[in-house]
Amino acid sequence: MTLGICADCTFWAKCGVSEAGWKIGLGKCSNVPKFQDATESSPDPEKYEFGTEVLKPDYQDVKAMTIDGGGYRADLLTMPDFGCVSYIPKV
Ligand code: SF4
Repeated sequence: MTLGICADCTFWAKCGVSEAGWKIGLGKCSNVPKFQDATESSPDPEKYEFGTEVLKPDYQDVKAMTIDGGGYRADLLTMPDFGCVSYIPKV
């Protein structure tokens, strides 16, 4: 496992001017999906993983998700010197 920081990660992009957090250097991680995008309703109660939701097939290996109180949208904003186990260096 390679440890690295968001600023050097392929999934990170500094927030644009006027986006939340841009003045303090925050960036968005594109490797953390929104809960609403990574899950779907299941008709089978035996499969429920989160309430009545289950992970979609493409997200079975997901390590983190974002969610907000209204279910509208949420992004993972990080400082450039944050890092995680999913780091992949930029090429
Ligand atoms: S190091 Fe982790 S949190 Fe930071 S951009 Fe990469 S995947 Fe996202």
